[in-house]
Amino acid sequence: MDQFDICIVGAGVVGLAIAYQISHDPRFRNRSIVILERDSSFGQHTSSRNSEVIHAGIYYASDSLKARLCVSGKQLLYQHCRQFDVPYKQLGKYIVGSRHDEDPLQAIKAKAEANGVTDLQWLTKTDLRKNEPALNSETGLFSPSTGIIDSHVYMQSLMRLAQNQAVHFAPHTTVDSIEFKQQLFVVDSTITASSHPEHYTFQCHLLINSAGLHAQTLARNIADFDQALIPELHMCKGCYFDFSGKNPFQHLIYPLPEANETGLGIHATLDLSSQLRFGPDTEYVDSTEYDIDSSRSSSFAAAVAKYFPAVTADLLVPAYAGIRPKIVAAGEAPGDFVVLDGAEHGMPGLIQLFGMESPALTASLAIGELVRDKFSGY
Ligand SMILES: Cc1cc2nc3c(=O)[nH]c(=O)nc-3n(C[C@H](O)[C@H](O)[C@H](O)COP(=O)(O)OP(=O)(O)OC[C@H]3O[C@@H](n4cnc5c(N)ncnc54)[C@H](O)[C@@H]3O)c2cc1C
Repeated sequence: MDQFDICIVGAGVVGLAIAYQISHDPRFRNRSIVILERDSSFGQHTSSRNSEVIHAGIYYASDSLKARLCVSGKQLLYQHCRQFDVPYKQLGKYIVGSRHDEDPLQAIKAKAEANGVTDLQWLTKTDLRKNEPALNSETGLFSPSTGIIDSHVYMQSLMRLAQNQAVHFAPHTTVDSIEFKQQLFVVDSTITASSHPEHYTFQCHLLINSAGLHAQTLARNIADFDQALIPELHMCKGCYFDFSGKNPFQHLIYPLPEANETGLGIHATLDLSSQLRFGPDTEYVDSTEYDIDSSRSSSFAAAVAKYFPAVTADLLVPAYAGIRPKIVAAGEAPGDFVVLDGAEHGMPGLIQLFGMESPALTASLAIGELVRDKFSGY
């Protein structure tokens, strides 16, 4: 039976960043590493269906993994972009409100400071008029460290750098089930590259479940794994609409976040070609379908018009949707990233990642470091 030292399940941005960090650490020199991906290529799911925003680390509960890993991941990500020519722009973001919103904005500023994000600046009505004249807003905060990234080129860079360190990538390979026997994982998978699926079984010493929306399914297929430790999955879809008019904005524009931070509010986001796009909204769903109901343009226009009055539904064109792998139900307080290691579940060498929603793109390199360091004793 084939044997690898380290197996990573899922080639989204999180699995790729883990592969990059482990393969570039001298402590793991000469270890064989494989990434298994059930699709034909990497990053076809949540990792390519998001706002592509490098978040500052503003909204998350202090001391949460989200706060810590977002703030450190942001620095690592900007550094990575500069070092490896990944396109990005540190545009900055405006969080805007009416004059009655000073208290919630003040609360956001205090939360950011508790997370070590100390560069938020108040915006006056004059600043807003001068810098973003299309906005209808009387007050706001400016976050200079927020930016945008080409997430596909970023993932390509992680894959290329990992492969340069001899990491093996196996697309078209679905991990079906796992057994832990005599300190080794026996992994059963199906290779779907041809019209005749083949079964492939191998062993590995260390295993990482970074299967995104399917992490819970995979965890349930690990024999003898304590099912009570698997957080329930609550899928929350977010749709985007492109703006077909001329983009009037220089910055990313965010309203105040939704209650319980289910989403950050339907914001105005720009891609690197300055295409203006609005989204994502929030809708709890039962299936992983990415279709967009075009009639939602009316509710989008109504939400966006609060800060950008020139928007109308007929200027909005359905773009794409993504699904957040939340671990809390609608109306519940925000959940944190869950990183379960052997000390918690009793299977040394196994790390499982759940609830990898926003800001896991921003935090990806820091998540990679965290997983790498948990394995450094092996
Ligand atoms: C609407 C939306 C907006 C967002 N905006 C931002 C943002 O602006 N900034 C930010 O930082 N974050 C953002 N995020 C979050 C970010 O996109 C995700 O946290 C991140 O992409 C998660 O990456 P992942 O690798 O965990 O998951 P995925 O990208 O889903 O990758 C998991 C991979 O595992 C594979 N897989 C699953 N099961 C198996 C199996 N059994 N065998 C083999 N392979 C398997 C899947 O095919 C998939 O490729 C947003 C998310 C959403 C939904």
